[in-house]
Amino acid sequence: MTFKARTYVCDCGATVTAWRWNTDPTPTCLCGRVMDEQGTVGVPAPGIIPDTIPGGIYIRHGLCHADGTPRRFDSMTEIRRAAAAKGLTLYGETPKAPTCDGHVDRSDR
Ligand SMILES: [Zn+2]
Repeated sequence: MTFKARTYVCDCGATVTAWRWNTDPTPTCLCGRVMDEQGTVGVPAPGIIPDTIPGGIYIRHGLCHADGTPRRFDSMTEIRRAAAAKGLTLYGETPKAPTCDGHVDRSDR
């Protein structure tokens, strides 16, 4: 257990700093929402490879724009979907990217 000054943030923009144990319940904001501890928001668990590509990546061949200019992608899913739309696959991956609900889109067949 760790007792330290923790800063909590709310979606409404309010922040609160309080000395609390890590086992203490997360405080509720005056607006009624449960607050998140600052520093723990959006930090991926170790060992999980994030889908987003920080800063994006420009692809100059294959998945570039129709006029040949480089096309920017900000996530691996975006690249996978663009590749699937062109009938291409990423090395070592299955041919079709699954949709959000996990089903494989076969509408082009
Ligand atoms: Zn709030």
